[in-house]
Amino acid sequence: MISKTYNKTYKYCLEIVSKPIYTQLFVLNLVANSLALTYFNGPFVYLCFTLLAAIIAFASTAIIHFTHIRWLQIIIQTILLISINSLIITDIFLLKEFNLIFGEDIINIIADTNPIEASNFATTYLSIGNIAFIIFITAILNLVAYYLPKLILRIKRNFIFNTYIILCYSSLLLCGYTIYNRKVYGTGLGVPQYASAFRYAHSALLYQNRFNDIIHLRNVCENISASTTAKDDRIIVLVIGESHSKFHSSIYGYNLPTNPLLNKLKNNGELHVFNNAITPYNATHATLKSVFSTNEFASSPLFPCIFKKAGYNTHIYENQYLLGKSSNFLTDKSLSDLMFTTRKDFNYVLDEVLVDSIQPINGPALYILHLQGQHYIYKNRYPNSFTQFSSSDYDTNRWSESQREIIAHYDNATLYNDYVLNTLINKFQNLNSCIVYFPDHGEEIYEVRDYMGHGDYNGDKEALNHQVQIPFFIWVSNDFKAQNPNIYNNIITRYDTPITSKNISHLLMGLAEIKCTSYNPKKDFLNNEYDSISHRYTLKSIDYDSQLR
Ligand SMILES: [Zn+2]
Repeated sequence: MISKTYNKTYKYCLEIVSKPIYTQLFVLNLVANSLALTYFNGPFVYLCFTLLAAIIAFASTAIIHFTHIRWLQIIIQTILLISINSLIITDIFLLKEFNLIFGEDIINIIADTNPIEASNFATTYLSIGNIAFIIFITAILNLVAYYLPKLILRIKRNFIFNTYIILCYSSLLLCGYTIYNRKVYGTGLGVPQYASAFRYAHSALLYQNRFNDIIHLRNVCENISASTTAKDDRIIVLVIGESHSKFHSSIYGYNLPTNPLLNKLKNNGELHVFNNAITPYNATHATLKSVFSTNEFASSPLFPCIFKKAGYNTHIYENQYLLGKSSNFLTDKSLSDLMFTTRKDFNYVLDEVLVDSIQPINGPALYILHLQGQHYIYKNRYPNSFTQFSSSDYDTNRWSESQREIIAHYDNATLYNDYVLNTLINKFQNLNSCIVYFPDHGEEIYEVRDYMGHGDYNGDKEALNHQVQIPFFIWVSNDFKAQNPNIYNNIITRYDTPITSKNISHLLMGLAEIKCTSYNPKKDFLNNEYDSISHRYTLKSIDYDSQLR
């Protein structure tokens, strides 16, 4: 019975892949996918390029095959060929002119472009030379794709058709694995980006979803009421770091002195370091959605709106998400106006520029700094004067020369981050202020496997721990300490409390003594009602407290 079903499936697949259009679409999709090579590479990526080209060509050919009306078949075939050629042409043009490939950023640019800008763009870039170049490349490509099936018919046709079938079967496994990962952990291993057709569709879908979220949030954030019972004019500072590994921080016992200044503050009892903090996601945007939300994203108010409503001046110093440059809740102008009294955007500069531009005055105020921190490429995240560690500082038996160089760059970036945070603390020293710091997520730097970065989860729990365990500390000024002895007492007695950055808005509202229906004392780890028993989750469905700790 099984072998009968198998034979039937095999025969059906053979019928599809032996059609000349299959080879044609496979080649064109493979070329289209491979145009992303400047962005993604490595064996897994090459495999994805090939498998996804095979399955997309299969699905397209099957549609043509099942349409038994000849003229309709020709129309579908023409539409499919024009579509895949359009994707190729767009990416070749973007790569040639801007070294970019199509993605969500491009959709944002298109959405923000008015007719005059569009016509200026067309006259600047669509020159005769450019058009001739693209036509020439596309013509060659299509000629190869057209004549290849004829060549295959002459040589090793069975071998090639069987290879096609193996690729299609394997790509089904890849698609299944990706869908499972996306459903369970909220991460698709980046697979949709590896097929040109999926990348375009995925970008459009993402843009649409974010646009809908923004509309929803505007409504929610316009209709809140909040007040504060704080008697003093206090300043709350939230610093969101980037890709900061707890395992490379000497305040958490790393063997190289990456946090000399913060360590000094810790040893003096001025810096309060928390040992058990995690992040709900291992990627920036997903974490920030959680951090800024008071409950479910898009259906609950963003916490800066609540602060503003309660009478706090709210200021943001943003070094990643530039206003109007992409479609998310931090770059949307109307949401930004609802959240912040003032805003300063920085164009991916070294983080001390943000700190230098702050001129704090007594509150009540909320300051948010969103840093570049230790985001890849690490060597761009610190000035030359912070080059303290080099490849010779690391175990030659454990890591290759190039890996050791990258680790050294990371540690130098962490050393620079230590300086930036210490400079910030000095700025707020003489005010009634409290600073909370944590990064959006951690980072893997070849500790567990041959991988550096974040956002990737392949089932290895130890690797994931490096991405989701995060440094977390609070610093308070003497004035704040004197005026808020109860808060201070809770800070110094809860270093081992389980924390998730998902609930950080409640901690901040608690520190600011804000009264509003969104505040939940059970989620504020400095409140006596804090629920420290419930397990914390990361990547949507992983129970951190029972599976990872
Ligand atoms: Zn990040």
